[in-house]
Amino acid sequence: MCGIVGYTGYRNAYNVVINGLKRLEYRGYDSAGIVIENKDGKHNVAKTKGKVEDLLAISQSSEYSGNTGMGHTRWATHGVPSDANSHPHVSNNGKIALVHNGIIENYDSIKILLIEKGFTFKSETDTEVLVNLIQYFEESQADLDFVSCVRYALNEVYGAYAICVMHQDHKGEFVVARLGSPLAVGIGKDEFFIASDASPFVEFTKDALYLEEGHIAHISLKDGIEIRTITQNEPVQPAIQELKLSLEQIEKGGYEHFMLKEIFEQPKSIHDTLRGRLLVKEETIKMAGIWDHLERFSKAERIIIIACGTSWHAGLIGEYLIEEFARIPVEVEYASEFRYRNPIITNKDIVIAISQSGETADTMAAIKLAKEKGAFVYGICNVVDSSIARITDAGSYTHAGPEIGVASTKAFTAQLTILSLIALKLGKHNGSLSNAQFMELITELDAIPKKVQEVLENTHEICKVIAKEFAHTTNFLYLGRGFNFPSALEGALKLKEISYIHAEGYPAAEMKHGPIALIDENMPIVIIAPKVGHYDKVVSNVQEIKARKGRVIAVVNPTDTQVRSQADYSIEIPMVNEAFSPILAAIPLQFLAYHIALIRGANVDQPRNLAKSVTVE
Ligand code: GLU
Repeated sequence: MCGIVGYTGYRNAYNVVINGLKRLEYRGYDSAGIVIENKDGKHNVAKTKGKVEDLLAISQSSEYSGNTGMGHTRWATHGVPSDANSHPHVSNNGKIALVHNGIIENYDSIKILLIEKGFTFKSETDTEVLVNLIQYFEESQADLDFVSCVRYALNEVYGAYAICVMHQDHKGEFVVARLGSPLAVGIGKDEFFIASDASPFVEFTKDALYLEEGHIAHISLKDGIEIRTITQNEPVQPAIQELKLSLEQIEKGGYEHFMLKEIFEQPKSIHDTLRGRLLVKEETIKMAGIWDHLERFSKAERIIIIACGTSWHAGLIGEYLIEEFARIPVEVEYASEFRYRNPIITNKDIVIAISQSGETADTMAAIKLAKEKGAFVYGICNVVDSSIARITDAGSYTHAGPEIGVASTKAFTAQLTILSLIALKLGKHNGSLSNAQFMELITELDAIPKKVQEVLENTHEICKVIAKEFAHTTNFLYLGRGFNFPSALEGALKLKEISYIHAEGYPAAEMKHGPIALIDENMPIVIIAPKVGHYDKVVSNVQEIKARKGRVIAVVNPTDTQVRSQADYSIEIPMVNEAFSPILAAIPLQFLAYHIALIRGANVDQPRNLAKSVTVE
């Protein structure tokens, strides 16, 4: 998500920063900005909604010549993409400039305090609060140096950040810090580079330092790099390493494909989606979109979920979640069917539209239809300020970060995370869930990122082995029951999308009504069989498959014996409430599709005939 580039040295900083921002474009962004220090130390700032090309158009003048500068590509989290919300943000006295990746969660309360002290704000961002908080410390504590002012400010905020700060009174210097978002420093001869990853500077130097969590560094040509811990102010020895990766590898974070990188990002993307919303200690869920419209949701006679593709599968799991926890009837529709079939919708209905890109044409058209008929429309999108985010009445963003691989992975599990939050919030509000049930469920949901991490660590290798065995098969069946019936559909879709193997997903019990005819010794069947819900029935389904010599790949819990004893291969995922098990089950199915596609030589990130953002009907 988003990018930071900084440079100080002897080169033209503008060129280094602009080219660096272009290198970081793959991360996805909606606005871009730059600040260059001129020879008198004055900062010249240019920033705009749009692309780096748009920034180029507004910044090509001699004002932007200098040897120190920094730039930013923003992926909006607080405030729409606009010129004013773009970074760098500048403090009220005009002296401090700051770029930031991440989220300052308590920006609101700090903003109120700063306004009381006379500060004014030009943007809606959380970032502008931080830069003014630094000014506040500088003015109120005269003995603090530049780096201490930044450190004091950081000790007042919580959230996630990588920041780079410049100061007009400290020419050729940067203060950088990191908590949760990455930041690398490139060390050349008489020059320093700052960047979100090493791609902007790999052509200039191979010596890099990856700032560690909770560290702050002062960087100047005169004194070099000095690192300290943010909370304790303890000095840290810089650990400089030699970059061995090529440019392309760096952009993919060392992974062979974006899809694999995005699979591995899921503990973080789920955590980011929960962050600031699931508050276990406060015993509550806070989501602006739902919070502001709780009464509207409470009065809903029905919820209709509309979506396409992977988002539609998330919607199906959403149906199970909302009906189970909030006891509100839910229907799930393909957006493309809904819009063409004169659906019955009233103003007592709530329509939830799900789309990663927020630009899906069929979903857009379905939303317009629902709105014409008087329904309240709630959006779940990943891309901030996308068309769907703008036309819906309310909504929640998944904070999965840009998803580049065409086959959706982390956006899917982030959608499941949001739907879980909605279901639990509504269930608690309308009394379908007791306080004790609510607490138990939110505690489990809070532990999901950790469990996802375990699944990543424990299932990758076995999925590679299974992929090798089945890569050249021509068909696959995926089966599951209850909450994991949609998991089966999604597993089959992933495989189809990137490996071009024909795959079908079914509820396991439906097998006997048709698909069982397909089963013989050549048919691999992936069965999702956690020890929850209708586990006993799934055990019988596995026996039915084995009786017909089908090859079983089972996703099971560690304590399982009955399915495992029948299966050809078992993949273990930790025990969790059935409602959240699709999040864990998704991961080995993503691995399986990925490795099968890889062996078949398919273009994993850009499968044939598919587009990431389906803007045609
Ligand atoms: N939260 C900040 C904003 O919305 C930074 C977003 C980013 O990481 O680009 O401006």
